[in-house]
Amino acid sequence: MPPPEVLLLGPGPSPTSVLVRAAQAWPLLGHLDAAFLPILERVQQRLRDLLGTTNAFTLPLAGTGTSGMEAVVGNLVEAGDRVVVGVHGVFGQRFAEAARRRGGDVIEVLTEFGAVPDPAAIVQAVAAGPTRLCCVVHAETSTGVLLDLEPVAAGARAAGALFAVDAVTSLGGLPWHADALGVDAVFSGTQKCLSAPPGLSPLTLSPAALRRVAERRTLPPFAVDASLLTGYFGADRAYHHTAPVSLIYALSAALDEVFAEGMLAREQRHRAVAASLRRGLDVLGLMPLVAVADATPMLTSVCYPEGIEDRAFRAHLRKVHAVEIGGGLGSLAGRVFRLGLMGHGARPENVLRALAAIGDALSAQGRTADIGGALAAAREG
Ligand code: PLP
Repeated sequence: MPPPEVLLLGPGPSPTSVLVRAAQAWPLLGHLDAAFLPILERVQQRLRDLLGTTNAFTLPLAGTGTSGMEAVVGNLVEAGDRVVVGVHGVFGQRFAEAARRRGGDVIEVLTEFGAVPDPAAIVQAVAAGPTRLCCVVHAETSTGVLLDLEPVAAGARAAGALFAVDAVTSLGGLPWHADALGVDAVFSGTQKCLSAPPGLSPLTLSPAALRRVAERRTLPPFAVDASLLTGYFGADRAYHHTAPVSLIYALSAALDEVFAEGMLAREQRHRAVAASLRRGLDVLGLMPLVAVADATPMLTSVCYPEGIEDRAFRAHLRKVHAVEIGGGLGSLAGRVFRLGLMGHGARPENVLRALAAIGDALSAQGRTADIGGALAAAREG
């Protein structure tokens, strides 16, 4: 029995298009098959173009965004390395924890969840000692805050540290220029603004990052060892692990859609639906956690009014309206809900459906909600 159709407006996965779903059902080939390798090669080149890099080491790593994070710290952190992590949400906390588990001497530069990090504070921490790696999260999905990468990249470069960015939620929603920024390691996920199924982590490492891997005293973990991955994702196409062929088909179709639309239009679409959502939320009396200038356009965290119960609210959306949204994480649990308008899901009709469902869920908890007014406001502009 197939599962029900649910509109995925949470923090991921996002909805997939018919073409992406159809591509996932293409005939399975061996991951070393001569008919599959050109598809893989094209995906790798598309990822380079999307990330704004010429890095030869650019590939769809098997596993979700978490695997990409493990690959970055697994290759670039050794015991005793000084690692500075900008932490402004749960995913920054995870980045720090992942680096600690590789033996890194981790310095966390903390920002209250929902507040905007000060890039200068991160740069100062990097410059305060011989730092191997500086890590940040671009679009913090746990809060909806977007970090300005440019000053952190410049500071890390000036201090001689490698710079690594979690672009799980930003890639495919906002333009990326890894080489121009001077980023040494970027990882993402397929299930957010790329709108492919979860299970792959686009990953790129700069030549400087690969030099660092070559100079390690100890070997990286086998599954994510950059040298071994190069064996399959480079010219040799040698076996390292069995690549998830069907997911790569789906990613290939998703990337075709991204390039057919163009990143500027895609960014504009994400910003337009986020603005429309905010206009509607305002009429419903709901406040976003983050001001629009600092917010991720693809994910909006919304504060619950006093007395609204998180679990019942989200259950109402899922059960009555077949709409999935996310709850708060960490210190924001129970205080906010998170609404993602990502990739294929970032459409005006989804904003209207979300607002109607949210208004109804507020009514179910005894609030008056001007749903008609919210829909009208969302349509303006
Ligand atoms: N980093 C960020 C910013 C995320 O939003 C997520 C997932 O939501 C992750 C990392 C982890 O990715 P995954 O859940 O695909 O392993």
